[in-house]
Amino acid sequence: MTQAPISLNRRGLMFVLSSPSGAGKTTMSRKLLSQQDNISMSVSVTTRAMRPGEVDGKDYFFIDKAKYDTMVERNELLEHAEVFGNHYGTPKAYAEAHLRNGEDVLFDIDWQGTKQLRATAPNDLVSVFILPPSLPELERRLRARAQDSEEVVQKRMEKAISEISHWTEYDYVIVNQDLDAALVKITSILHAERLKRERQEGLGAFIEALK
Ligand code: 5GP
Repeated sequence: MTQAPISLNRRGLMFVLSSPSGAGKTTMSRKLLSQQDNISMSVSVTTRAMRPGEVDGKDYFFIDKAKYDTMVERNELLEHAEVFGNHYGTPKAYAEAHLRNGEDVLFDIDWQGTKQLRATAPNDLVSVFILPPSLPELERRLRARAQDSEEVVQKRMEKAISEISHWTEYDYVIVNQDLDAALVKITSILHAERLKRERQEGLGAFIEALK
């Protein structure tokens, strides 16, 4: 007789990917989301201008500073930070609803936001820092995507060095030399973290039933 598959209740986890821009984080997030079940992207709000090709509500919720200030005042953001002179924040409602349902949420946020999440929800947070294979390669990737002005590229390169200095604040660090290899590593982290005893809330009842 075949038995019904055993499924144990689990807490959703907050899966944070951070990196200097251009290290391949966006591509990796998209691939991870398309390959894995039970994980979805947290779409941040931002006050920065939309880049060509970006879609409101998909890449970001593009809002003005007044709306952003209201969200901060009303405590509607899980974390928020200023990056490159623009404001960014993670809407609270989306993440909380999914985590409660045992669904994982992926966050593309910087080290400042990661620090805030670690302070408020240390048990739910899994943080991964993605490094470029070298700084010249990072600069090449930034230029190749041709989304930013020369001035912004230079500013991002300067920022990259200071962002990289926060690598010790992360649970995992991955060098993205080869996209597919890096993706395998990130997927392994996600799968192992999902199996952590503390996240498997249904284990107690399961063990009781075993006895
Ligand atoms: P970009 O403007 O290139 O999309 O993003 C710039 C930086 O802001 C990236 O490092 C990205 O991870 C970070 N970022 C995007 N959304 C958020 C957010 O909601 N909170 C924080 N703290 N950082 C964010």
